[in-house]
Amino acid sequence: MRADVVVVGLGAFGSAALWRLASRGVNVVGIERQGIGHPFGSSHGTTRLFRVACMEHPGLTPIARKSLELWTQLGEGTGEVYVRQTGSLNVGGPKSRPVRGARQAAAEAGAPTTDLTHDELVERFPQYDLAAEDVAVWDPGAGICYAEPTVRAHVAEAQRLGATVFPHTMVTAIDLGRDEVTVRTPTISITADQVVVATGAWLSKLVPALPLSPRRTPLFWFQPRDPASEAFRLSNFPSFIWEFADGRGLWGHGSDEDFLVKVGLDGAERERGVDPDELDRYIHPREDIAELSTAIGHAFPDLDPEPVKLMPCMVTDSPDGQFLVGRYDERLVIAGGDSGHGFKHCAGVGELLAQITTKETPYTDVSFVDPLRF
Ligand SMILES: Cc1cc2nc3c(=O)[nH]c(=O)nc-3n(C[C@H](O)[C@H](O)[C@H](O)COP(=O)(O)OP(=O)(O)OC[C@H]3O[C@@H](n4cnc5c(N)ncnc54)[C@H](O)[C@@H]3O)c2cc1C
Repeated sequence: MRADVVVVGLGAFGSAALWRLASRGVNVVGIERQGIGHPFGSSHGTTRLFRVACMEHPGLTPIARKSLELWTQLGEGTGEVYVRQTGSLNVGGPKSRPVRGARQAAAEAGAPTTDLTHDELVERFPQYDLAAEDVAVWDPGAGICYAEPTVRAHVAEAQRLGATVFPHTMVTAIDLGRDEVTVRTPTISITADQVVVATGAWLSKLVPALPLSPRRTPLFWFQPRDPASEAFRLSNFPSFIWEFADGRGLWGHGSDEDFLVKVGLDGAERERGVDPDELDRYIHPREDIAELSTAIGHAFPDLDPEPVKLMPCMVTDSPDGQFLVGRYDERLVIAGGDSGHGFKHCAGVGELLAQITTKETPYTDVSFVDPLRF
């Protein structure tokens, strides 16, 4: 089989690349080892936080905005909503990473934000049991985005635009030649001009020598102690990132659906450098839940600290916490190293991957995510 471009791995980044390439009329083939929108990689569960004033790097603000623009367009066609902009809180002491980072994104990338004093925060968000020094930066363009439905929508739209998709097909080798690349699976081989590899936690298996470290990171959902309470509805309890004085922190958001409130703990991950094929998919009550439950008990007294639902997931860390997105070889473009904050950017990253592959000028500076920077 022959194609212009093969996209390997149809999770968040790869599915978006497939869609953006198909939207340009490129003859593109997507290959995914599992089904589309599956629970074995990094892009499952219902939602992810969507932020515009991104504390991780001001260069991410234009990428989040591009995701929003593309998902809005996609939603006009499908009738679905891919982002709900309810605003978001960056909480912590004045020198904490969420507060400093959101202010930096506001100053350097023009993300509109509002500072909230401690007293304003207490008044508007009584769910929080704050430390005396806690303040917040409100990111009004932020909110939540939807994980599995979005991956499926990217792939469905790509197929509607002419892309060919092989689910349940594992790429076993990528042979880079001088004039072409051959992507091999147990059932088919595809020869193409270029390949985009976006295999998440498995990226280093197909592209060796990348400094990536997958980490086991479960997803957790909680409910209010009082089932009739409205305090943890999404409109009253929008998405947040909260750093404590000891450097650990919580992130999450409320929900309108059955009051399931998503909360995770930063700085508590016990397994780094895992082999994604050997991921421990059991949940361990002591190690996985105890620390998060204790933190929730202190932080949100009206939330029941016993999780009602949980699922294992993976983050793939890069050395500097930024993605690896760009050209790695004449015929090879890669996207990975999500470092736990990639979903909100995936449509914008897909657009960058399409631009890099088709040799258009990228819509924003990509030097901070250049995969050759290491
Ligand atoms: C607990 C948790 C919370 C998070 N919260 C947020 C958040 O609030 N906001 C946010 O923006 N981001 C968040 N993230 C990060 C976000 O989910 C990831 O950045 C994103 O899902 C990464 O997508 P990916 O495409 O790199 O990987 P994946 O979605 O895992 O895609 C890789 C795909 O490649 C496939 N594959 C692998 N090997 C092969 C092969 N050999 N052949 C074919 N296919 C292959 C896999 O099956 C998989 O489908 C969170 C992550 C976790 C784990």
